[in-house]
Amino acid sequence: MTDHRRRLGGWGFEGESLLPSPELLAWLDTRIGPAAHPVPAAAAAPPELPAEDLGMLPAKVSTDPLDRLAHARGQGLVDVLRVRSGPVPALPDGVCRPTDTDEVEAVLRTCSSRNIRVIPWGGGTSVTGGVNVLAGDAPALSLDLERLSGCSQLDEHSGLATFGPGTTGPGVEAALAGHDLTLGHFPQSWELATVGGWAATRSSGQESLGYGRIEDMVAGLELVAPGGRLRVPTGPASAAGPDLGRFIMGSEGRFGVITEVTLRVRQRPDQTVVAGAMLPDLEHGLEAVRELVVNGAPLTMIRLSDAPETEVAMAVGLGRSRMAPLVERWLALHGITDDACLMLFGATGDQDGVDDCLRHARAIIRSRRGVSLGRRPGRQWLRDRFRHPYLRESLLDIGYATDTLETAAPWSSALALRDAMTEAIANTLTGENERVAVLCHVSHPYRDGASLYFTFFFRCAASCEETISRWARIKRAATDQLVTAGATLSHHHGIGQWHAPWLKSEIGAEGMAVIEAAAARLDPAGIMNPHVLLNPEDRLEL
Ligand SMILES: Cc1cc2nc3c(=O)[nH]c(=O)nc-3n(C[C@H](O)[C@H](O)[C@H](O)COP(=O)(O)OP(=O)(O)OC[C@H]3O[C@@H](n4cnc5c(N)ncnc54)[C@H](O)[C@@H]3O)c2cc1C
Repeated sequence: MTDHRRRLGGWGFEGESLLPSPELLAWLDTRIGPAAHPVPAAAAAPPELPAEDLGMLPAKVSTDPLDRLAHARGQGLVDVLRVRSGPVPALPDGVCRPTDTDEVEAVLRTCSSRNIRVIPWGGGTSVTGGVNVLAGDAPALSLDLERLSGCSQLDEHSGLATFGPGTTGPGVEAALAGHDLTLGHFPQSWELATVGGWAATRSSGQESLGYGRIEDMVAGLELVAPGGRLRVPTGPASAAGPDLGRFIMGSEGRFGVITEVTLRVRQRPDQTVVAGAMLPDLEHGLEAVRELVVNGAPLTMIRLSDAPETEVAMAVGLGRSRMAPLVERWLALHGITDDACLMLFGATGDQDGVDDCLRHARAIIRSRRGVSLGRRPGRQWLRDRFRHPYLRESLLDIGYATDTLETAAPWSSALALRDAMTEAIANTLTGENERVAVLCHVSHPYRDGASLYFTFFFRCAASCEETISRWARIKRAATDQLVTAGATLSHHHGIGQWHAPWLKSEIGAEGMAVIEAAAARLDPAGIMNPHVLLNPEDRLEL
């Protein structure tokens, strides 16, 4: 049975894991060489860093060392390496769990007057250094919003549900299930990430094609800042000046604390079905995805893997079945061989609606020389979609490091961007005779383009510092390449501390100045998560 305690220094819950298959290990061995430096599992004891005295705050504050350690870092690869290998360079001086909005306001006011940094904490699943505490900085308080959770209001007739910011994905769906409703927001971090975190980072769920991004789902919200409260009224649409709700979304705690979010919810579908197809190469695959979105059926998700990712998917999933040789022969008969690209496409609704939608989609896929693989690959994906993150920890156990990064591009440049990014990432460590294996898939498609999501693997070095240095070199090379290509720094992970040095090159000096001015108005003392978004220092290796 699973023990539902959060794991320290890794993804998810104690007792849960996903081991790499022998096929994946063989693939890694061939691509980047045998692993030589296993990373020890999480250090049980927190570092001996005494907590600065925060004085009396208007809410209870925990200074328990394990609690502080659990709130020191997010879920990026460096965070996990630091917590596992230790010592963690800095801990928050306290963890506060306010029980209502007035308490949040009072804490912010007090911290503002005493120059205590406040780092809002939702699920702590940031992969951009968004919740990380810095060594040598002013005292820091982690503001864990877990007690501000649950559905406080439901307007079923309008399809509007108001949630506390600390409500997790399962918490949202459980509150709606009894009313036959769903939000439909399923990021891969769904089990741990929260409503407030989603809004603060402009999250996107795996079924964004059907349900939209979080920005599309938010109908109203409240922000509590040291400088005052800001309420964006709930409504279907408004032309009352610039959209302040959208401006607050993506502020990553820099403007204040999102204390309430009203979300657009929908009728829970009878079923969610995902089917598979194989396309002859990425070019045909991209054309098929574009056509499905522009002229196609109302699918809720499409994911198209490039040839290397398809190879891995076949090795670890579909290809392990007894049917694999038959499938391979069948594909070869249709001219689909080495460059094959796996596509998953999903629909929700009642039986007839889903069948119609998938039939229509298959016709478009066939017109691009694609071959249907039936529903089996989709069933596997649906079953495992929230389990995949556990693989990172199992790979570290044996000495392989893996991480992801993502962007978005118009259709006209997607293929070139994928090639340039793959090359930039793959060649980063050649100077030290190390290889990096790169996989890519297209997800979150839009009428004008799509998100490109990269997964890379490299070998851990003998020391934690050197492994982090390898990662940082890959990350810098990849991010520089994004900027050179004019692609966005992030489609859904946000900016945090780690992407902040590059933000100006995406939004320009005026863009930066507008965000700075808003932060100065809402947070005059600069206590709110001050090292994300606007602070351009390179902190990849901290
Ligand atoms: C394995 C894994 C898979 C992931 N998959 C996805 C994915 O599919 N889609 C996706 O969008 N993201 C994904 N992410 C990234 C991450 O889950 C998202 O950024 C998520 O929205 C963060 O939510 P959180 O509640 O954990 O926020 P946290 O990590 O706690 O915080 C993130 C940032 O938001 C701020 N913040 C949090 N709550 C509030 C609040 N109430 N008010 C103001 N600021 C706040 C924090 O200070 C921080 O800057 C993934 C991460 C991991 C580790």
